[in-house]
Amino acid sequence: MTMATIPVSLCCVGTGDAFGSGGRLNSCFHLAAAGEQILLDCGCSSLIGMQRCGINPAEIDTVVISHLHGDHFGGIPFLLLEGKYVSQRSRPLTLIGPPGLQQRVEAVAEVLYPGVFGQKLNFPIEYRLLDPNKPLQINSAQIECFQVKHGSSQHVYGLRVEVAGKVVSYTGDTEWTESLIPLAQGSDILIAECFAYDQPVPSHLDYLTLLQKRKQLGCQRLLLTHMGPTVLAKIDQLELETLNDGERIDLL
Ligand SMILES: [Zn+2]
Repeated sequence: MTMATIPVSLCCVGTGDAFGSGGRLNSCFHLAAAGEQILLDCGCSSLIGMQRCGINPAEIDTVVISHLHGDHFGGIPFLLLEGKYVSQRSRPLTLIGPPGLQQRVEAVAEVLYPGVFGQKLNFPIEYRLLDPNKPLQINSAQIECFQVKHGSSQHVYGLRVEVAGKVVSYTGDTEWTESLIPLAQGSDILIAECFAYDQPVPSHLDYLTLLQKRKQLGCQRLLLTHMGPTVLAKIDQLELETLNDGERIDLL
């Protein structure tokens, strides 16, 4: 008798860069398994993306943020706003990210909607910090982070989530760094940012480097996201797989 496997599904809510290249939405990936719903990054446009994908924002349990740039965490105030005014959310929300997450979320929320979040929300928010030395167990998901290289902050991470026996890894934003190898190793899927085609742009990955490192990464599937103009111009000629907004992948 074979054991029934729990389906894990990935929905690419937003596969764009910070500049709206190709009309794509900011970074946001939705992972659903065993009745649990997790977002990897929540860029400014994520609520729009979720609505387009038929994902109910009020059912998101956990949001994991790779780094504190707007195209990766700027959608959180809108998620909270939706919970307060539209869905009357009661389900608890766990927000996980680099040190400073809570202060930055609260500061952005106050700038965008002054006074709105000062009064109590009708759902609890728990903040948890990413730490490369301490994997987090959140319900049935194990969440690990790996320090990567993007700008001057030390607290910029690649994410690795294991749920229902499947592993989805995600580079966040980074230039090439050796920590991408343990991040990706043995993953069912690696979602890799690929902002540039051939010139190593500081702080970002490029297509030719990823192609060259493909085998070393040791993941089953390598899927490109966060593509800038130079990659999008060649999208029909690429050997590596690319993701699109709204695309769904079932991990069986
Ligand atoms: Zn970005």
